[in-house]
Amino acid sequence: MYEKERNELIDSIIEKGIEDELVLNAMRKVERHLFVPDSVKHHSYRDSALPIGFGQTISQPFTVAYMTQAMELKPGSKVLEVGTGSGYQAAILYEMGMKVYSIERNVDIYNRTLKLFDKYSIRAATRCSDGTIGWNEFSPFDGIVVTAGGPSVPENLKKQLAINGKLVIPVGDKKSQTLHILTKIDEDKFETKKVPYFAFVPLIGKEGWKEK
Ligand code: SAM
Repeated sequence: MYEKERNELIDSIIEKGIEDELVLNAMRKVERHLFVPDSVKHHSYRDSALPIGFGQTISQPFTVAYMTQAMELKPGSKVLEVGTGSGYQAAILYEMGMKVYSIERNVDIYNRTLKLFDKYSIRAATRCSDGTIGWNEFSPFDGIVVTAGGPSVPENLKKQLAINGKLVIPVGDKKSQTLHILTKIDEDKFETKKVPYFAFVPLIGKEGWKEK
């Protein structure tokens, strides 16, 4: 279903500069319309974020591709996602052959997405908690992707990144953020590349924004 629309979307993402074949192949296979509510299904293959209920969104496909490519993963890499949301990003990572660990703080979204993972046999270790403190038991991670925007880079996530691993996180105010792509050079040494103009929902937690 929607194969033509999906392929057109991937072509547009290639035109915008995504070239990692592992990412592109996964995006050709994973059916985004399975991860969005019925009311917006007909927009599934637009390159835009869409509402998924509870005030949250499924990220824009280009952004998912960009953040995933930025982690420079190889099949079998261990990846932590903070902000499971619709489950689409986790499904892409799973399709790429990654060991996926995903944390969602909102219990309603968490329970709904867990059912989808069961239904479509997406094998990811999941947890309903504050992802800003990471998931220490399974660290270090080769890649960490945070799909909500925080005021700073959580120290816990920096600690739980493997040497040479990459942490991708939007940092800024609640309206707009700069994507920070950190590479861990040594235990306390990071190189950071910054890419402006992203807009995510807020990262709420101990090392994020405080809940009102
Ligand atoms: N990765 C998702 C996808 O593919 O649809 C997009 C997620 S949405 C843009 C961001 C999600 O992060 C929301 O579901 C929100 O509840 C969650 N979130 C916000 N703060 C969080 C935190 N501290 N820990 C875990 N999840 C968090």
